[in-house]
Amino acid sequence: MKNLIQLITLTLALSFSSFLIAKPKVLTTTNIVQDLVQQIGGDQIEASSLMGIGIDPHYYKATFGDMRKLAHADLVFYNGLGLEGRMQSVLENLASLKPVISVADYLNQDDLIYEQDVIDPHIWLNVRLWTQAAKGVQATLSEKLPEQADYFSERTEAYIKELNDLHIWIGEQINTIPQNQRILITAHDAFNYYGVSYGLDVMGLQGINTTVEFGLNDLRLLKEVIKQRQVKAVFMEPSVPKRSIESLIAGVKAEGGQLKLGGELLSDTLGDQKQGTDTYIGMLRHNTNTIVKALK
Ligand SMILES: [Zn+2]
Repeated sequence: MKNLIQLITLTLALSFSSFLIAKPKVLTTTNIVQDLVQQIGGDQIEASSLMGIGIDPHYYKATFGDMRKLAHADLVFYNGLGLEGRMQSVLENLASLKPVISVADYLNQDDLIYEQDVIDPHIWLNVRLWTQAAKGVQATLSEKLPEQADYFSERTEAYIKELNDLHIWIGEQINTIPQNQRILITAHDAFNYYGVSYGLDVMGLQGINTTVEFGLNDLRLLKEVIKQRQVKAVFMEPSVPKRSIESLIAGVKAEGGQLKLGGELLSDTLGDQKQGTDTYIGMLRHNTNTIVKALK
């Protein structure tokens, strides 16, 4: 009888303690960074992001609810390089209380693209750079949860294999577009890394930061390029208002040119499950298919 009571007490104590050991709460700014962290962390972490589908990170300000989530998180990952410009001070202050990590810090600094002395933050649009970020996340998670290091290592290896396949596939797809048609014009200048990596000239109606409005001179220059290169299509992004790209199309048509909307590219946010763009890989496949279909 005494043994039985001891056994019951022990069982209760064990189940209670395993209940108490919760998974670490890993909070990210964008859903793109969340996907990366989730791919590596799997079911050993509880990952969530502050910014949902269609949110523009350049403009985003932390809400009261966000502050509460940031306070409760065990680990915070953000993109960095000024992408979350209006959250920068919040993230910097938080870094004195808990690990707050910019995934851009994992990259080889020589791979970063500068535009007029400002570093372009859209690093995820080159799959090779995102592969470096994946290795960095693996190292950080393994350091924080050393007992799960093998698990993270296995997941990272499998994910990197998928990323390698994706990188090769994108290159092959872009190569099917005639050389002179390899020009990508989008609502904001998010695709420099993609362009450099896969061989497309890239132009955006707005700069690398959506908080800066585009001017008439930029519009005139774009129209000139469209005419000279006989560009067939330009692209929208869900996180940027479509009026600018629509007025560009209307402007070119008014001058007798031919220009159509090539579709919607996902730059700074993942899409939804229905379209299969709720993961980083799904997003890049969607973008590549949309670009190739419109420019080929
Ligand atoms: Zn952007």
